Amino acid sequence: MATLDTLKLALVQKASATTSTEKQPLSDEQYSAGFDIFMKDPGWTTYQNFIIPQLSQVLGPLFRSRLRISVLEIGPGPKSVLGHLPDDQKQKITKYAAFEPNELFASRLEEWLHSTPFPSLECPPDINRTFFTSHVPDNCKLSVDDEKFDVILFCHSMYGMTCKREFVSRAVNMLVERPGGGLVVVFHREGLQINGMVSHRTTSFPTGVVSVADSDDGLDNFAQFMAGFTVQDESLRALWRSVCRELGHRDSAHPGDLLFSAPNIMVTFTRHAFSGPLWSARFLKTVKNRQASRRLPGGTVRPKAIIGVRQCVAWALAKKTGLTVLGGGHSGHCIWSNILAVDMRGLDQVHVLAAEDTDCGPLIVAESGCKTEDIIRKALASGLTVPLGARPSVGAGLWLQGGIGHLSRLHGLACDAIVGAVVVSVDSGKVFTVGCMPSQHRPDDAIHLEDTELLWAIKGAGTNFGIVISVAFKAYPTPTYSVRNWIVPLDDMAAARAKLSDFDKLIARELPRSCSADAYLFWNNDQLHLGVTMYETSTTTSCVTLVALTRAYTILGPEMSIKVVDSVGVFDTEMYMAEMHGGHGGGKTSSFKRCLFLKDIGEPRIANILLKAIEDRPTPLCYLHLLQGGGAISDVPADSTAFGCRDWDFACVITGVWPRDQDGTKEAAAAMRWVYEVAGRLLPLSAGAYGADLGPDPRDAALAAKAFGPNLPRLARLKQRWDPRNVLAYACPLPPPPKDPKLIVLVTGESGAGKDYCAGVWACRLNKSGGAARVASISEATKREYAAASGANFKRLLDDRAYKEQHRAALTAFFKSQVEQRPQLAEEHFLKAIYSAAGADVLFITGMRDKAPVAMFSHLVPDSKLVEVRIETSEEVRRARRCGYHTGDDSLENRNDSLEYSPSFAFLNDAEGGFLVRSFFEMHLLPFMHPSLQHLADMVRQIPDFPKTDINFRHILGIAQQRGGLKLCTSLLQTHFIGDWAQTSSIVCVETGGLIFASALAFQVDVPLALIREKDKLPPPVVSVAKASSHISGVAGKDQSEKTIEMEVGVIPKNSKVVVVDDVLATGKTLCAVLRLLREAGVELGDVSVMVVAEFPFHRGREMLYREGFGRVNVQSLLVFGGA
Ligand SMILES: Cc1cc2nc3c(=O)[nH]c(=O)nc-3n(C[C@H](O)[C@H](O)[C@H](O)COP(=O)(O)OP(=O)(O)OC[C@H]3O[C@@H](n4cnc5c(N)ncnc54)[C@H](O)[C@@H]3O)c2cc1C
Repeated sequence: MATLDTLKLALVQKASATTSTEKQPLSDEQYSAGFDIFMKDPGWTTYQNFIIPQLSQVLGPLFRSRLRISVLEIGPGPKSVLGHLPDDQKQKITKYAAFEPNELFASRLEEWLHSTPFPSLECPPDINRTFFTSHVPDNCKLSVDDEKFDVILFCHSMYGMTCKREFVSRAVNMLVERPGGGLVVVFHREGLQINGMVSHRTTSFPTGVVSVADSDDGLDNFAQFMAGFTVQDESLRALWRSVCRELGHRDSAHPGDLLFSAPNIMVTFTRHAFSGPLWSARFLKTVKNRQASRRLPGGTVRPKAIIGVRQCVAWALAKKTGLTVLGGGHSGHCIWSNILAVDMRGLDQVHVLAAEDTDCGPLIVAESGCKTEDIIRKALASGLTVPLGARPSVGAGLWLQGGIGHLSRLHGLACDAIVGAVVVSVDSGKVFTVGCMPSQHRPDDAIHLEDTELLWAIKGAGTNFGIVISVAFKAYPTPTYSVRNWIVPLDDMAAARAKLSDFDKLIARELPRSCSADAYLFWNNDQLHLGVTMYETSTTTSCVTLVALTRAYTILGPEMSIKVVDSVGVFDTEMYMAEMHGGHGGGKTSSFKRCLFLKDIGEPRIANILLKAIEDRPTPLCYLHLLQGGGAISDVPADSTAFGCRDWDFACVITGVWPRDQDGTKEAAAAMRWVYEVAGRLLPLSAGAYGADLGPDPRDAALAAKAFGPNLPRLARLKQRWDPRNVLAYACPLPPPPKDPKLIVLVTGESGAGKDYCAGVWACRLNKSGGAARVASISEATKREYAAASGANFKRLLDDRAYKEQHRAALTAFFKSQVEQRPQLAEEHFLKAIYSAAGADVLFITGMRDKAPVAMFSHLVPDSKLVEVRIETSEEVRRARRCGYHTGDDSLENRNDSLEYSPSFAFLNDAEGGFLVRSFFEMHLLPFMHPSLQHLADMVRQIPDFPKTDINFRHILGIAQQRGGLKLCTSLLQTHFIGDWAQTSSIVCVETGGLIFASALAFQVDVPLALIREKDKLPPPVVSVAKASSHISGVAGKDQSEKTIEMEVGVIPKNSKVVVVDDVLATGKTLCAVLRLLREAGVELGDVSVMVVAEFPFHRGREMLYREGFGRVNVQSLLVFGGA
């Protein structure tokens, strides 16, 4: 299907060739007739599936952070696309202006605006019936100096603008200057180039299609609209019609229509759009991937040292834009238009380290600008190798995303051989080392991470979490390869099916792991062929079994060739390079690939799809390449590395190939479409998809969803942790992280207290009332590991109390030794329990044995409310429940002596029956799920970049500025308090934030206030303590000196209970000072409770309170917010 750009070019060329033709601008009516074609099906699909959802998504954060939004739309047409935004977004639009030069459209737009699509407009819409120009026209009411907008939208108006950069620049200069800035959003056909500007985001929609009625009138309207001018010359009009008919595609779903491909993109710009002088923008002609090499990046940098990479990251973070990273340049995602490309090819050193020089055996340290051949050659010189891929020019993208090659069955994937790495974080710009990286290859300023999560992620999904500078590979002795080739013509489909099945079952499956057999299905000289290449490596004792070879001869006949080569020579033995299609179509081809993992390729459903695919190939050069898996690839458990698809026999590379001189033509488009179609048919029968080369193209989404096996949720969380601003937005797409449960209840207590019982009852209650609750046991992980190490029965350790009691001492000793070896064990187990609860609203965790777990673990789940319910029982009841067993060592369970902290709740579980258990749930846990808390949370606006860049400010006091906000908050503070208001003598508050909420609450519950103010604001006598500056004053760079806070002596009666009320708990510094002050004033800490409106666990405020000795003070918060 030809693209609209191809059509436009052809139409304009025809007009230029007709010298007598006088071009005239389109009348308003003619423009309108052409425009209407795009608004009907299937053109409208582009709006429905791309423009409207993307617009709503990209504007979401801006709309959430503002009470009012001003919009300028350039060329909206008869009706603004903003009318399709969700209601809550439309309601925020308080100012709307447009440039609409088409009189017809302008009138219809005004009429439409009368129907109040934007109900909150504060002034009449301002429709300028003129062109938006790159400079300010004299007759224009808008002036750059006094009109600024939050959003400026070019939806379908840039086509007539020749120097697009000028127009976008002007728009960028018209954006508001305030925290969070504004956004220029451009929708356009793919191919839009805006030189010298850096986009905030670029998103594409390659599958857009436009159809036009194949009638003379229809085509006349369409052709002149596409050309951008009209002509009187009837012969040219006839020519235009025939061009449309020639290029247009016909299909049975749209009878009587001509279809054109209309790939679209959305590009957004912020005020940071103008790139600095540091970067040069150029086409990267030397990039292997043809799609990528045709894009014009926002700039390119080729760092020669880590500092250069760090500068790029710092720049991207400051400009709030993404980066692409260029390794070997084989994927389509190493360059994107208007995005800075970091070309790693300046970092291309390879170092070989002998076994005696490392702690981890022989290593090859390779910088990420190396190509496969660089590494293999250098290793070969030392008698070593690394299991990489088959092509010499492929780069780091291969080993970071998997890496399947001829040694994979013997040694595993390339990513399996990675034992350490140096990475520049795209969150902080800092350099980290992970795993085993020899000291001489650790940069001086690198931070070594004990945490193994990043290394885990790099091994299979390594393009998503940072810019990898270098990796250390485990090296293996280099082998010699014996390579045998067969090419077998296949007479018909039945013969082909049988041959494929025999190849799989009788040859490939018989091979030892030192051998592998690849198959090719391709069409040559009007006949389907099966090609087979068998690789045998010879450092090992095993070789092709006689039975496999004999069968190969029987099934495939004698081999065409046999070669013995080294690990460099093997590059030249690839069948698609040497044998097929006259040696890769004569060498001048372009290709597009997607890869799926298959088991049992001879199974009729799979074989039929494969063979049909070859039959339907859109160009003669398309083929399927089946690389053998199994062996060491599948020895690795799916969750041991990020590369989670392990259980497959063949990786099927669907390869669309076309002659290079057909790049950008409908042949190339058809080959790409074929690749996706075949992938789509195979996907339901596959064992997963290869993540390499998948990108933001929506057609990749279904493949990406199956790319990492069971590891996708874990990767999604790590993406949020390591690339929270999505700087690497063009790598293999990961879904948003699964939401952590809103409420996590740690059910603690001594053995026999009934923790599992209570957790089970509460989860059941919640599930019955429509919630989604789960129970997870922390000790399960330890029991599993203990069972594996000791041979104990894991299931009995879980279910058989007597059996568990027998193992208690050994289990405890095992746990203690594990903690010594892995200091992070408690965190790991806690997070595992959280990960296991994906999709749950509430998670009950039992078996936690850490002190002050809420204080110590909250920051790990910063979006969730974490509470602890301690189950208590009398000794008799406990003994009875433990069936009389008592070994005297309880350290795998909690003991309630020596508690230096208070749990959030304590529940006495002595009574028989579940009545009290259920009542506790209704009274204390159910209120956390009440919708009014969500309503309160919705009142908290987020203001990005306030008070400084990268701080996402939550406007807690803003609650009081909204109708009903203070009332709701007060009522929630009143009802969520777990103490007794009648027993409370004072509500203590610190100016300013706390005062607002405390005053309203004090009024409501009729308890007097005890005010804490800064020095010298209260009459003496006073008690005073020093207080560090608050978190927000600190980040705002305001006065950071210590202040003194004071309270009047005697304002709190002796031996009375008090409640401290504050707006926010972040670092905990203010609260610590308040508690110190109360202690100075003679208030017993056991009599103090704290209530805050919002808590930010990221800052570990509770941990600070605990460490400062205030762990016994009960702290409750209404809302919890993640982020800084
Ligand atoms: C001809 C050909 C042969 C192939 N053969 C094999 C094969 O035998 N086995 C196999 O498994 N695969 C093979 N592939 C697939 C190959 O692994 C992927 O195309 C891979 O993405 C290419 O990596 P690259 O570095 O060459 O490409 P690039 O396009 O430069 O990079 C690919 C991805 O990695 C990211 N990236 C690159 N460097 C870094 C870095 N330092 N830090 C973070 N991200 C980075 C890029 O941003 C991009 O998203 C082949 C592909 C082609 C075209």
